[in-house]
Amino acid sequence: MTVAAIDSHAHLYFDRFDEDRDQVINRAKEAGFTGVINIGIDVETSSKVIDLAKKYPGFCHAAVGLHPTHSNLDEEDLMQTLATLESFCIENKNEVVAFGEIGLDYYWKDVPPEIQDRAFRKQLELARKLDLPVVIHCRDAWSDTLEVISEAGHGLTGVFHCFGGKVEEARRALDLGWYLSFAGNVTYPKAEELREAAQVVPSDRLLLETDSPFLAPQQVRGKRNEPAFALHTAEILAKVRKEGLNQLIETTTANSRKLFRLSEI
Ligand SMILES: [Zn+2]
Ligand SMILES: [Zn+2]
Repeated sequence: MTVAAIDSHAHLYFDRFDEDRDQVINRAKEAGFTGVINIGIDVETSSKVIDLAKKYPGFCHAAVGLHPTHSNLDEEDLMQTLATLESFCIENKNEVVAFGEIGLDYYWKDVPPEIQDRAFRKQLELARKLDLPVVIHCRDAWSDTLEVISEAGHGLTGVFHCFGGKVEEARRALDLGWYLSFAGNVTYPKAEELREAAQVVPSDRLLLETDSPFLAPQQVRGKRNEPAFALHTAEILAKVRKEGLNQLIETTTANSRKLFRLSEI
């Protein structure tokens, strides 16, 4: 099979990849992958994703941002963090292709919603200023996330990564003009609602991801996830959408290239 797949969301800087990161990247290349977007969650990891993009040029790309579960900062620290992230983007234009992951997460209760909201809105502003697409993390916070994007997301586009909503939420996100990305959890036997949502996404708005090292697809569930495993997710997406596997991979790759402007690099 000749594929040119892109894993639009991974965290290959995690120490769980320290022993064999080169092999993980080689396995992805051998499986036909042409790119992986690594996603930062705070200043330290945003610096790491840029390092990875420099180490694997043209293959690894970077997204920098402050994850909602890491946003419990006072005003001064938040402004300092955002200034650092902004300088990362400006100084590493060839590596940084998106801003994120940012958003709201009400599953973990560590950070009060209003604190998350402040960091989220400020980062949407920053993404607009930097002219970068946005990677959204939304967990158990659909109505607030969609509201913030409606209010503060004008002029922006991006992707709801690891989409975890229902058909209704998929339609609302699509109505805003954004992309939806599916991860390994769409392959889980109980994820019927996710597979229903995957069916309503137009071909030009669908992305593929792993969220490595998390959410390994059903066939390898329980293992550390890695980009090459996204092919299992692609198979299920192709099946439920009644498309050929190659067609699904081609369209998700074209969408990633367009959203993250990879051809301009
Ligand atoms: Zn996330
Ligand atoms: Zn992530």
